[in-house]
Amino acid sequence: MISELDELYQEVILDHSRRPRNFGDLPEAAVRVHGDNPACGDEIHLGVKFDAGGGLQDIKFTGHGCAISQASASLMTMKLRGKSRVEVMEMLRAFHNLVTDETSEAPKTLGDLRVMKGVRKFPQRVKCAMLAWRAVEQALEQGAGEATVSTEPA
Ligand code: ZN
Repeated sequence: MISELDELYQEVILDHSRRPRNFGDLPEAAVRVHGDNPACGDEIHLGVKFDAGGGLQDIKFTGHGCAISQASASLMTMKLRGKSRVEVMEMLRAFHNLVTDETSEAPKTLGDLRVMKGVRKFPQRVKCAMLAWRAVEQALEQGAGEATVSTEPA
């Protein structure tokens, strides 16, 4: 049986996958990361521009794939834009816990990203949800230029 809460979550995910926010090229991006999830066929192309302190001044993405991967990217860009490096790393940890740890309570700081909590029951979907986050992690590590990440070991 699908609870009302699950239905609400579904709605948010469908809305973001159909009308992704911060979708498009970021011409002034300092770093571009191409993320690939071969297990599902998801692709995310992330562009990040940093501010003077190394925070995420702007972040945009393009891509295609399942609703989970695209909605996670859309929600992520909304959450991370304007955040400092430290805040981004904290959010990354919190989100990873949310989608992998059965015992994790969804922290309020994650806001709408909490709709992704349901994927923890489906290990294959965790890769979909994490794809954009792997890309942003790589963007922070790399700092400039182009990079690729994959959810599958090379
Ligand atoms: Zn997927």
